[in-house]
Amino acid sequence: MRIAAIVPAAGRGERLGHPVPKALVPIGGLTLVMHAVAGMFRAGVEAVFVAAPPDAVEDVRQRVPRAVVGPGGADRRDSVRLALDAIPPEFDAVLVHDAARPFAPDAVAERVIAALQAGADAVVPVVPLADTVKRLDGNGVVTETLDRSALRAVQTPQGFRRDVLAAAHAAEPTREVTDDAALVEAMGIKVQTVAGDQRAFKVTTPWDLAVAELLWRSGSQ
Ligand code: C5P
Repeated sequence: MRIAAIVPAAGRGERLGHPVPKALVPIGGLTLVMHAVAGMFRAGVEAVFVAAPPDAVEDVRQRVPRAVVGPGGADRRDSVRLALDAIPPEFDAVLVHDAARPFAPDAVAERVIAALQAGADAVVPVVPLADTVKRLDGNGVVTETLDRSALRAVQTPQGFRRDVLAAAHAAEPTREVTDDAALVEAMGIKVQTVAGDQRAFKVTTPWDLAVAELLWRSGSQ
């Protein structure tokens, strides 16, 4: 099976409040996108396609010279679709991995790849929820407590048969989603799960960045 990876890295990272696009924020001297791309190559993918902020394509290209870098789109879904269009036809499977998850352990990607090799159409890494989750109405009043034991938080890298991911992105072009598996689910295709890892957390807020820096300095990422 020939596997490529897409790294969506075109977000501005507004919740991070950093002056440069999130993918170019450094942790331990390497930018987020460098950590994420290196992780994909370590896991054994043959090629990595990065969706960069349109005004930073050259900058990202210089930081990840082994990857193919092109401009991303207005939202994550657009960025993934643009990168997918650039992947040559000989690849049978694609991992999609957020640039914002610099410390996803190689073992997570390896579990995703193993599930694809065993025949999965789509596979996502998941972790249990630590907090209780409640549904609120428009006034912030609790209407329901969800059964935590049946819920999981979903991380990346997510893995897909290439034709499944392409069909999912071609369908319902206006549907707003926060991950690629949601598009596959909407087509009625089964999405399998493998164990994720806390270290695959997404750097979203200044607090996450501080945690990432501490992990890097302590060598326990
Ligand atoms: O905003 P959020 O952290 O959920 O974004 C997840 C990933 O999607 C990030 O790696 C971000 O760079 C990427 N993204 C993108 N294009 C956009 C918005 C987000 O590639 N237009």
